[in-house]
Amino acid sequence: MGNRVLALFLIAALSLAAHARDRILRSVKTGYDRLILRYDRPMLPSEVRTLLLRNAKTLRYVFDFRHTRLAGPDLLRSVRYHAPVRSIRLAQYRPHTVRLVVETAEPYAVAHYAIPKNGYVVALPKGSSSVRSLFAGIKTLPVGRKKAHPAHVVYHAGRTVRAKPKARLICTPYAHLKKRYTVVIDPGHGGHDSGALDPSHRYQEKRAVLAIARKVARHLKRMGFRVLMTRSSDRFIKLHRRTRYANFKHADIFVSIHANAVGNLRRASTARGVETYYLSPARSARARRVAAKENSIAFRKYYRESMNVYLQTLTRSKIVYSNMLALDVQSHILKELRKHYKGVVDGGVRPAPFWVLVGAEMPAILVETGYITHPSEKRRLYDPRYQDLLARGIAEGIARFLANRERELE
Ligand SMILES: [Zn+2]
Repeated sequence: MGNRVLALFLIAALSLAAHARDRILRSVKTGYDRLILRYDRPMLPSEVRTLLLRNAKTLRYVFDFRHTRLAGPDLLRSVRYHAPVRSIRLAQYRPHTVRLVVETAEPYAVAHYAIPKNGYVVALPKGSSSVRSLFAGIKTLPVGRKKAHPAHVVYHAGRTVRAKPKARLICTPYAHLKKRYTVVIDPGHGGHDSGALDPSHRYQEKRAVLAIARKVARHLKRMGFRVLMTRSSDRFIKLHRRTRYANFKHADIFVSIHANAVGNLRRASTARGVETYYLSPARSARARRVAAKENSIAFRKYYRESMNVYLQTLTRSKIVYSNMLALDVQSHILKELRKHYKGVVDGGVRPAPFWVLVGAEMPAILVETGYITHPSEKRRLYDPRYQDLLARGIAEGIARFLANRERELE
């Protein structure tokens, strides 16, 4: 009898110990064509076993998360999806294994990878879940050619049209936007991270971009937007927290504001101009260089791999919306600045792999407002009037983008 009690005690203790090692799956949410799982500890791709079960009519993509337990019975309650996904199921398949099953009608490119803060992403088929209802109505949009898009190319649902230059300017007046949209403005860097510096260190990126961001917020509020800022003072915020904040606040638009720099002093007198970037796998050496500069803080190898996988899963529609937003913002910045300033250089709209844009569930762009290493442009970046015109251009570009999207859905 004593032995049996001891044996039972041992079994109980062992199973408790085994349970203590399991991680807990706490929540499941839908992002832009992705499921986002959150654990109490990091989940590693090596702990996930995948399986594809198919019959004549359906495909079942199975993900077994080992050493994992469910926090509760109803983790899928906020998960929304539509075709081509038929169903999503989650269960404690074995005592230490959680099974996720995504059932679809057609095959799709599955990807799964870790993200910061104990997160784990499982990609869903394109178009199966879009968080922003405004953007859910439009299904496929062309990404276009691999080259940077000229500003006079207009996008409509399903096709790219080369328009007469004025055609873009006809749209719903901003005052008539149907919804009160939320815009998150993200002034780059802050605190111990001063961002780009001129050789004298008198001009700092973090200060110029905060001043510009405040003015963007003021213009947007005047136009009726709900505006939130990732920082409104000189403090440091980690890159991944910035988009996470935007997701958490259900923002419709995310705009990160930066200033550029060149390391080579000889190039400092020639490198200038405004550039707007959207997230995409890097293409040009120049875009990669700018991204590397902005990415350098807290950019660990572990996340770099996740970033590469993430970039491969970016949906076409997501890239296109950010691209369109970038085009609208860039053209309005130039329009405003050129009203009062000469020699404003159009650096163009470019795709680049910026870490700060990764994970944003809404159209997201990064504006490089000018070069802090250029002798006259750095002064302009500190000039309140120049800042104000820049800010007005960004705000007008955002409004134009949203008005055009509303018009497409009519
Ligand atoms: Zn920056």
